[in-house]
Amino acid sequence: MKTFENYSLLNNNTFGIDVQANYFIEYDSVEELQQLLRSDLLRENKMFHIGGGSNLLFINDYQGVILHSKIGGVEAVEGTRTKVVLRVGAGVVWDDFVAYCCTKNYGGVENLSGIPGEVGAAPVQNIGAYGVEAKEVISKVECVRVDNGEECTFTAAQCRFGYRDSVFKRDWKGQYIVTAVYFQLTKNGVPNVNYGSLAEEIKKYPEVTIANVRDAVLAIRHRKLPEPKVLGNAGSFFMNPVVDAGKFKELQGKWPSIPFYEAGKQFKVPAGWLIEQCGWKGKSVGKVAVHGSQALVLINKGGANGLDIINLSDSIRQSVRDKFGIDLVPEVNIIFG
Ligand SMILES: Cc1cc2nc3c(=O)[nH]c(=O)nc-3n(C[C@H](O)[C@H](O)[C@H](O)COP(=O)(O)OP(=O)(O)OC[C@H]3O[C@@H](n4cnc5c(N)ncnc54)[C@H](O)[C@@H]3O)c2cc1C
Repeated sequence: MKTFENYSLLNNNTFGIDVQANYFIEYDSVEELQQLLRSDLLRENKMFHIGGGSNLLFINDYQGVILHSKIGGVEAVEGTRTKVVLRVGAGVVWDDFVAYCCTKNYGGVENLSGIPGEVGAAPVQNIGAYGVEAKEVISKVECVRVDNGEECTFTAAQCRFGYRDSVFKRDWKGQYIVTAVYFQLTKNGVPNVNYGSLAEEIKKYPEVTIANVRDAVLAIRHRKLPEPKVLGNAGSFFMNPVVDAGKFKELQGKWPSIPFYEAGKQFKVPAGWLIEQCGWKGKSVGKVAVHGSQALVLINKGGANGLDIINLSDSIRQSVRDKFGIDLVPEVNIIFG
């Protein structure tokens, strides 16, 4: 376990916001985490758990303890001729895990290649990309209770996954720390390449293999998304709004070319398109900007603080509200110190 005082979080958030935490603690095992949760330091201070910091926006210094898991390990716990179940430590880098699965030809996570962050956040966020969501492959989640340090395991159904959402972000917010995740993957399964841009990209490859799907996804992401080490960002800043049929009909009447995906009886509209229609794509405001290739991504051009990003986000939300009558909801977790 490592403890740091007055620690700069600059390298622990992909937005590149320079804030400090009173304490930053990295632990290596469930036992160390339990010991920490029962310590006076944790009893006397507020606490926030981070992963790779790729979906966070710190508004100011954090007056408390930031925890970070270094629990590693990828272990096959079940297997048949057609499937394998892997138990993966929360501190494993997400894309290292995906790369491992693709090398082994285990199917199910290849569409989620290149997503920054760590395995522990995957069930919290129900990460998704190119037509696949983490909920489709997560079978169980091991956690530790924050209030008493007890270990517990939840089934996928108990996690109540939704679009970039789970019970860990809502009713159980701040109550559990994820320590390991179980993924049920296929052996020699058929990859899902139905998603528009992936279906196009995969045509450049001689066959649809898990390794080729990974390469195709990485190629699309590389073209479309800014590299956080070069331009601070947290991926999609807003969630894609889901509207009912009545509202969608009204929107389609005014903007016949509006893109959409059917989501049951509702309609999901790309937030990036709405933002672009309001003229924000590529626009700079001081040290922050809306990315020129993907209007859903807000960027720190250098030296911005959390409020600069929030002010830009508020202006965008106001424009989208005025033009379309839709309230955009941030996907990024906003942390007030
Ligand atoms: C360039 C870029 C592209 C991205 N593309 C995508 C994409 O395609 N699809 C997508 O879904 N997301 C995407 N994201 C967002 C982000 O990568 C994911 O949300 C990711 O899962 C966050 O992981 P993290 O480890 O960085 O978590 P953090 O950002 O550190 O934390 C996110 C949330 O998870 C909680 N958390 C983290 N670890 C634990 C734990 N062990 N136990 C309990 N709670 C925990 C935190 O408290 C916080 O609420 C992108 C981000 C960037 C910067």
